[in-house]
Amino acid sequence: MGRANTLTNVVSTFMVLWCPVWVTMNWMSLEYFDGSLPALIKAFWTTDDALSMIWRYLPQASWTASLAYASWLAFQALLYYALPGKTSFGQRTPGGCRHRYEINGAMAWAITHLLFAVAVVQEWLDPAWIAKNWAGLFVAANVYGYLLAVFVFVKGRYAPTNVEDRKFSGSWAYDFWMGLELNPRIGSHFDVKLFHNGRPGIVAWTLIDLSFAAWQYEKFGSVSNSMLIVIVLHTVYTLDFFFNEDWYLKTMDITHDHMGMMLAWGDAVFLPSFYTIQAQYLAYHPVQLSTPAFIALMALGMGAYAAFRASNSEKLHVREADGDTMVWGRPATALRCNYWTADGKEHQSLLLTCDWWSIARHTNYTADLVLAWAMCAPCSGDGLVLPPWTYFIFQFVLLNHRIIRGEESCRNKYGEKWEEYCEIVPWRLIPGIY
Ligand code: NDP
Repeated sequence: MGRANTLTNVVSTFMVLWCPVWVTMNWMSLEYFDGSLPALIKAFWTTDDALSMIWRYLPQASWTASLAYASWLAFQALLYYALPGKTSFGQRTPGGCRHRYEINGAMAWAITHLLFAVAVVQEWLDPAWIAKNWAGLFVAANVYGYLLAVFVFVKGRYAPTNVEDRKFSGSWAYDFWMGLELNPRIGSHFDVKLFHNGRPGIVAWTLIDLSFAAWQYEKFGSVSNSMLIVIVLHTVYTLDFFFNEDWYLKTMDITHDHMGMMLAWGDAVFLPSFYTIQAQYLAYHPVQLSTPAFIALMALGMGAYAAFRASNSEKLHVREADGDTMVWGRPATALRCNYWTADGKEHQSLLLTCDWWSIARHTNYTADLVLAWAMCAPCSGDGLVLPPWTYFIFQFVLLNHRIIRGEESCRNKYGEKWEEYCEIVPWRLIPGIY
């Protein structure tokens, strides 16, 4: 209780109302203002009749797109539920639970993409269908995002999966935005958070990119090398996510963040519409990079990805081995810490102090930010910042905010040991700078 104050109350209310406006503005700028958010803002600022302008430019719902979206959700839910998978366990929750998961994301991704490829080759499906029906899909996703947010809020209040892992802040707005339940489930198997964080949005990520690439091809007769970088880096990133889905169970999304509108609407709308924004932008504004620029950006992106994966895997690997393992050819080093769960039981954990985790406290974020930069830089032909750079700016804000949230939570969890760790590894992201 008592997480919220007036400021968080105001900010939460603002986020609940502002988020759909924000993504809709991006959509409008791509569709009607030559991909320029500043041009859209200027047009609204200078018009005498903003209301009729909004009405004219709003994305329109369509039955076909709504039906396709509902079928997409049902198909992904079926794959999540029915495909066989490796059994894996999440990290112990503050309430003392260790949830069991059946991990089958890689197979769901492969089956979905295979079906997409077959449908395109057989000419049952226009590969640019998603791009051409983007407005209707966007509206359907927004409606679903809000419905899901209401569902998890009501479920959290009246039928929580685990009462010990539910939090009330005293503010309805904050609870609606940040969530009540940590890991809401339908039955014992269907994990609402893992499904929504992972499946409909992240599986769709590469399909949306491919569809916008097909549209670029249809409009301009070729696919630009900048689009190729975006697709390759996004594919590597999403495949990484699914091949390491049991690692994902140990990340903050699953272990710390409660399921409220931030995740529900974020997974349904924000992820598919904002994380694919480079491909959407390039479909309207193809950028052909010089060969050296192409090679340099691809190499930077792949190098950053390698560091991202290595640092994240190292943490998982050392913790799973309880510190008794080798990294970079040397014995791993870590601080052994105690913490207590809500049931009063004492547990142990490790804070790594070796290799990636000795360079800075969040080297995995540093690598992710460089990768995000490499994903956006190919779009910089017109010199526009918004929306082509939206993904990098968003990641920069999100990961810096996570540093604050994560470190506060670790300080509460590990007390003096966390302070000791901060003395051993004094930098957050870049040694000598921050
Ligand atoms: P981490 O995997 O770094 O998890 C943070 C938690 O790890 C801390 O709260 C703490 O929790 C534990 N921890 C902190 N320091 C150490 C240490 N030295 N040794 C061992 N454990 C430590 O971050 P996230 O879960 O936020 O992100 C995981 C990855 O996903 C990152 O690479 C991030 O960049 C990426 N990401 C990508 C997003 C995207 O939208 N593209 C969004 C969010 C994340 P505890 O001790 O309780 O386990």
